[in-house]
Amino acid sequence: MSIIDGKALSKEIRKDVKKQVASLTEKYGKSPHLVVVLVGENPASETYVRMKHRACERAGIRSTAINKSSAISEKELLDTIINLNEDPDVHGILVQLPLPEHIDANKVINTIEYKKDVDGFHPMNIAALQIGTQGIVSATPKGIMTLLEHTGIEIEGKQALVIGRSNIVGKPVAQLLLNKNATVTIAHSRTRNLEELSRDADILIAAVGRPKMVTGDMIKEGATVIDVGVNRVEDKLIGDVDFESAKEKAAHITPVPGGVGPMTIASLLQNTLECFEALQKEA
Ligand code: NDP
Repeated sequence: MSIIDGKALSKEIRKDVKKQVASLTEKYGKSPHLVVVLVGENPASETYVRMKHRACERAGIRSTAINKSSAISEKELLDTIINLNEDPDVHGILVQLPLPEHIDANKVINTIEYKKDVDGFHPMNIAALQIGTQGIVSATPKGIMTLLEHTGIEIEGKQALVIGRSNIVGKPVAQLLLNKNATVTIAHSRTRNLEELSRDADILIAAVGRPKMVTGDMIKEGATVIDVGVNRVEDKLIGDVDFESAKEKAAHITPVPGGVGPMTIASLLQNTLECFEALQKEA
């Protein structure tokens, strides 16, 4: 059994991004610039924004946080985004979710210029993923695919089970696995035979948000298990997979923390770099 070390791999990626940032900065005479928009005061969101900011700084990517009060109107927020879309000195735009209830998150996402959509949530990027053409792939699913590639396992022809069908993790990762020729099943809260499906899966991705719901007896011998879940239980971070029992069956498994989480940030840096380069080539 091998533990997939997302922390170490993310470090390598960040080092590589830093090198590329330096060389592109020299080539284009400016450095990539990511703007993160945060609405309201959600402590978890504030932590994520701080982590993204720090990671950008270390990689040589300029990063600006725009903090808006939760009382901001939808129109005002959309205008802020339109201004960022039009600003040639901004290469990546990320609106930290969740947004207050009076703001339609879909409208906000649709307003972001898709070429600056580092989160890969814009319908244009989702469509590119679906068709299998070049687009910006959302950071967590992209990080998961990088982790899988790193294990060296073959994806083609394998049975993959994705538990969870959210727009930000489950659906895009299922599509990416399908694009790599896996046979993909997506399970969700109404799935009736989850245990049976799990025991058949060569690749199992758990993205649910329920601590330790996937136990060792649900895992096929020799499977690759990616645990996306981040659940805070008594001040500890716990995954969706019961690591102790699962590691007895899996050939490769990610820990929580130190698996998917750090890969998400590394992939965001890659996306910012990709957006920057594509925009410079167009200019
Ligand atoms: P959502 O709450 O949006 O989606 C959860 C999914 O799990 C839904 O599709 C839901 O089904 C499904 N589900 C709920 N209960 C069950 C069940 N009993 N059996 C099978 N499926 C079930 O969550 P996210 O996709 O946003 O996040 C999932 C987890 O990943 C969370 O713990 C989150 O914190 C973590 N996460 C981690 C990231 C990282 O960087 N490490 C990034 C993003 C998320 P239905 O659609 O039917 O309701």
